[in-house]
Amino acid sequence: MRIVVLLGAPGSGKGTIAGRLAASDALLRHVSSGDLLRDAVRRQTAAGVEADGYMRRGELVPDGLIARMVGDLTVGVDSACTLLLDGFPRTVAQAGMLDATVASCGASFGPVVLLEVPDAMLVERIAGRRGCPACGAGYHVTNIPPAREGLCDVCGTGLVVRKDDNPETVRNRLAVYRTQTMPLIDFYGARDHLRRVDATGPIDEIVVRVRQTLA
Ligand code: AMP
Repeated sequence: MRIVVLLGAPGSGKGTIAGRLAASDALLRHVSSGDLLRDAVRRQTAAGVEADGYMRRGELVPDGLIARMVGDLTVGVDSACTLLLDGFPRTVAQAGMLDATVASCGASFGPVVLLEVPDAMLVERIAGRRGCPACGAGYHVTNIPPAREGLCDVCGTGLVVRKDDNPETVRNRLAVYRTQTMPLIDFYGARDHLRRVDATGPIDEIVVRVRQTLA
């Protein structure tokens, strides 16, 4: 098994790119900590109830909660698979948890792909982001528009704006990224795991660039 990480600010395209890569490679599994948490919130599990307030405010949920959630990240995963982590780790402490998981299951690790996007573009991308509450497909009003306005291409459900995509929460999420997640850039840079990718321009081209770093 191999574990690779997509690192980047909110709006840098981690989920979209991971989704595209996984759709074209049966051995690539997209694991989004945000999606797992949103699912837990929807199902009102104990973890979901605990996480909800943090997520609404755009804060990170406590590491202890993440530790429980990702403890069994690799359980039942075929050894031929690559796990593509989106949104985890987000702190240096979480990177330590991931090291422990990698060591315990004998997986190979890396690269950590940093999606680089200018700040102004992050805000524009988040403002236009829409998602399907039924199947999870993601869209953008101009960059990735659905065929029928406001409706999911996959299942026809009405698209929604994520609760934490409002301007105030987005400002907080970007600040949290700078203070708590950006230290991972030096952390993985020092270990020579970091690969920087220009994540601007047409989505298909970004996917190609990221795929090249994983080869
Ligand atoms: P995302 O979908 O990755 O943008 O995550 C949405 C929200 O879920 C974040 O703003 C956090 O509140 C929470 N979250 C997701 N992943 C993590 C993580 N690894 N550590 C802490 N909180 C997380």
